[in-house]
Amino acid sequence: MKIYISATLRGFFGRHDKVELEGNTVRSLLKTLTDEYPDGREALYNDDGKLREFIQIYVDDEKFTTEDKWDEDITANRELLLIPSIAGGAPTESLISDERRKEVSFDDAEIERFNKHLMLREIGVKGQKRIKAARVVIIGAGALGSPVIQYLAAAGIGEIKVVDFDEVNLGNLQSQVIHGKRDIGRPKTASAKDTIKGINPKLTIEVDNIKVDAENIMEVIAGYDVVVDCTDNYKARYVIGDACALAKIPLVFGAIYQYEGQVGIFNLDDGPCYRCQFPSPPPTGLVPTCAEGGAISPLPGIIGSIQANEVLKLIIGIGENLSGKLLTVDSLYLHSNILKVHKNDNCPICGKKASIFEVEDYDYEDFCGLREEEEEIPIEGIEPEELAERIERGDKMTIVDIREPHERAIHRFPDVVVIPIGQLARRQKELDPEIDTIFICKQGKRSILAIKTLREAGYKGPLYNLKGGIDGAKDIIFSHEGAWL
Ligand SMILES: [Zn+2]
Repeated sequence: MKIYISATLRGFFGRHDKVELEGNTVRSLLKTLTDEYPDGREALYNDDGKLREFIQIYVDDEKFTTEDKWDEDITANRELLLIPSIAGGAPTESLISDERRKEVSFDDAEIERFNKHLMLREIGVKGQKRIKAARVVIIGAGALGSPVIQYLAAAGIGEIKVVDFDEVNLGNLQSQVIHGKRDIGRPKTASAKDTIKGINPKLTIEVDNIKVDAENIMEVIAGYDVVVDCTDNYKARYVIGDACALAKIPLVFGAIYQYEGQVGIFNLDDGPCYRCQFPSPPPTGLVPTCAEGGAISPLPGIIGSIQANEVLKLIIGIGENLSGKLLTVDSLYLHSNILKVHKNDNCPICGKKASIFEVEDYDYEDFCGLREEEEEIPIEGIEPEELAERIERGDKMTIVDIREPHERAIHRFPDVVVIPIGQLARRQKELDPEIDTIFICKQGKRSILAIKTLREAGYKGPLYNLKGGIDGAKDIIFSHEGAWL
């Protein structure tokens, strides 16, 4: 049977996207797979041997995540899919009432501007009026936000709010096509607003130059018809997902990683919420975020355009939408799936015994149990300046690079030991407990996880984390002549 492995997990399975294995049940296939790829066991299961909550198993389009289905004979099916969060069929009913639609009118220029919508039988004047009456909030004006904001503005959404806290930098321009070179250093919201005004000066645009959190999220989304999640981190996603579920506002979710993306709709009518699909985020560091993992330039264009298309369908009330489904698109192999997402009876937000009644700020590391242990045994960090000095002095120490091969190719350290995080426990004999070992990763987060993993495995030698990772250190370290390439 074919096993499809989502891009975020491939590092644990010999970088394969598909593996062909013998087996007739999910249980037997997972055993054979993890016997063949022992690193994968750690990615899939927690310490109690239970499947990690952020991993979803599908057989073709049916969810097989719960263990009670693992002994069913699945030989009649095509493939088994391993999908982590990175991240129906009912006909769509319009989110905009007839009363609101009837309040809208168009001038001649608008008739000309939206001519190609007006000629579509499913949209027409009524649909275009609904679009003009709609209020949409887009959180994140980055890679996914770029196509979402621009297409929704071009389509004629009457009121758009853009929320982002960040400023435009040069590295954003590879994919964030709403911004240009002259916007570098400006708030993304200001740049996005200028672009929208350039498309259609008649639209009502509001911008919020803030980072969403438990304190402000309810106010950010209040009164809007749809929320579009275009963020790139788990902390924001859970805050947005919880807030939209509690406020019962439909959420159009999109996520990207490297070559792969996901789109789904949550909280539509009685449909599942974000936590029904992804009850809790992966442990810090196990899955790099898009910011750490990179993404091919047009991928957010593909995924964001699908998000914008879903938003319009919800507003006009046409077609079938992605509520209760998760669309996954692998742009490298042009492999796509529409997976079913069921309402979860045990969901902490919308389940029978709900336990979350207001949005909480998840300190993401704390949420994953990392902070607590940090307090028990503090993880010692080393500043980049100090590391550079120690290297120049020729101090005896081991530097372990736990980054992925593609990350190492950008900034390569000489004289390091390369050990992927999944192999650390097994390969601890390669480290000398008599001397200092310094871990490096991209942002200094995965190296904390590495130290924690080694300590749990019983390693006794001194371990240090390069503070801020390569990102924080490159200006200092790469300027030391001869020491670094
Ligand atoms: Zn739920």
